[in-house]
Amino acid sequence: MAATALAGCVSSTSSTQCLTGELADAAVFPSIVREGLDSAMRQAIGVAPEGFPFGAVLVDIVSGEVVAAAGNQMANGDPSAHAEVDVLREAGIAGIDLTATVLVTTAESCVMCAACAVWAGVQGVVYGTPVTFLTDSGWKQFGLTQPEIVSASWLSMPVVGNYLRELTDPLYASGPPR
Ligand SMILES: [Zn+2]
Repeated sequence: MAATALAGCVSSTSSTQCLTGELADAAVFPSIVREGLDSAMRQAIGVAPEGFPFGAVLVDIVSGEVVAAAGNQMANGDPSAHAEVDVLREAGIAGIDLTATVLVTTAESCVMCAACAVWAGVQGVVYGTPVTFLTDSGWKQFGLTQPEIVSASWLSMPVVGNYLRELTDPLYASGPPR
């Protein structure tokens, strides 16, 4: 079949797959990482600020330890200061090898943050609340899931979703600040 030039599509001789990313299971991560995920998510929740309650941490793929944490800092006037961008930027500048980390975030990443995680080359992403819940609760979001965004990239990065969302959904249920 003819090759296509559609963004996010991969053509082979038999088919064209477009944005078919699916969620992965946490079992893809080493046990040392899995054992620390609950604690990591709770730390991400802990750094989520009032107003825009999004938090993110980076977990070392070898030690399972949280090596960086940041909350949303848009209150400072920086529209790119989402939690995931913040933690990747701060850790990268600090010299942490981002390719040896897993990103744990309280909510499924927006297009900007999902792309930033790809650019960083992290080993995977674990999020709490899905984009669909954010949208249903009144938060602005793009109509793309994080696995879909990753699938349009050059990485086969696992994305684990809805992790401890019973703890993160309440952060977003009442919608954004008015
Ligand atoms: Zn974002």
